[in-house]
Amino acid sequence: MSRPEQPAELKLVFDEPVQRKKVPQHLADFSPAERKDFAKELGLPGFRSTQVSAHYFGHLDTNPDSWSDIPADMRSTFAEMFTPKLIELVRSITCDNGMTRKDLWRLHDGVLVESVLMRYTDRTTVCVSSQAGCGMNCPFCATGQAGLTRNLSAGEITEQIVASARACASGELPGGPTRLSNVVFMGMGEPMANYKAVMRSIRNITDPHPDGLGISARSVTLSTVGLVNGIEKLTEEGIPLTLAVSLHTPDDELRDSLVPINSRWKVKEVLAAADAYAEKTGRRYSIEYALIRDINDHTWRADLLGRLLKNRNAHVNLIPLNPTPGSKWTASRKEDEAEFVRILESYGVATTVRDTRGREIDGACGQLAAAEIANS
Ligand code: SAH
Repeated sequence: MSRPEQPAELKLVFDEPVQRKKVPQHLADFSPAERKDFAKELGLPGFRSTQVSAHYFGHLDTNPDSWSDIPADMRSTFAEMFTPKLIELVRSITCDNGMTRKDLWRLHDGVLVESVLMRYTDRTTVCVSSQAGCGMNCPFCATGQAGLTRNLSAGEITEQIVASARACASGELPGGPTRLSNVVFMGMGEPMANYKAVMRSIRNITDPHPDGLGISARSVTLSTVGLVNGIEKLTEEGIPLTLAVSLHTPDDELRDSLVPINSRWKVKEVLAAADAYAEKTGRRYSIEYALIRDINDHTWRADLLGRLLKNRNAHVNLIPLNPTPGSKWTASRKEDEAEFVRILESYGVATTVRDTRGREIDGACGQLAAAEIANS
């Protein structure tokens, strides 16, 4: 049966599958003004939502017993109304002497997603999921293999971040209490395909207390396969995030298969959209490039990429492929990786090779959730 006509442009990427059980509403789903309206709809004065926001974002405190500015007999009701628990920890796995921790979360409808917390000497970063599964179908990515289950709500995304901030503040990571300083949208999902909820989450991260966590926009990285309409919308918002584009090869021919959405938006269009973002925000963007042995690590590709990027405000982040179960692809040989870096640098393109934190704990996108589903 043929599907009814829909506006062509967004159909491909902004469609959600069949609506499931509704995710409970949470104050993190709303802007500060909407939170006040939400309180009023519940028959409360608007300032109550500001009080709860201050506990949630300012003090990372979801235990209503300690909300002393709220009448004792109303605290648990307020907590249920404004901050229902949206994610439940299934398990955590750590490596790097506890400095990397992967958390597997169960959502209210049983769906599983993961986040990864990484402590470095100068910063602590959480990598969050924006969707359960992913519809982008990149063949080297574990998340892509099972397709998209559903978009996460802003509350579900924000809860991963607030839980991580709390873990940092309460000293759960070795080295004592610290502040969560960076957030990267590099977990499960394509953030640009869940634009509204991701933008709300970004505001929750960057808004100052009591409305948000007060983390600098520069410390937030949004990684995308290159949904040009999403990059353009982001440019209009003008928030100076770090934009990361998953390019993986400079030529359309191979990119059509490595990043299938390339059949919709070609390399040139994606780079033009990223350039416009850099122009508007003054922020250099990153090009992500998973190096896959004998697939995209040829010297001529490094040359082509160097030529493409030499006059752009971009740097390259090479990621040694983390092989996914059942795939015949593997990481590049060390000498090919080094040659790739050398060629890019010969064009004056700043290049880094990503550290491979979390490999032992299925750190690559979607691998822990995939393993859990396979074992259940
Ligand atoms: N959907 C977004 C964000 C998710 S993943 C995006 O594609 O950008 C974050 C990065 O990890 C992306 O660059 C993605 O291509 C890369 N990645 C996914 N699977 C990988 C693997 N097995 N090995 C190395 N990098 C991988």
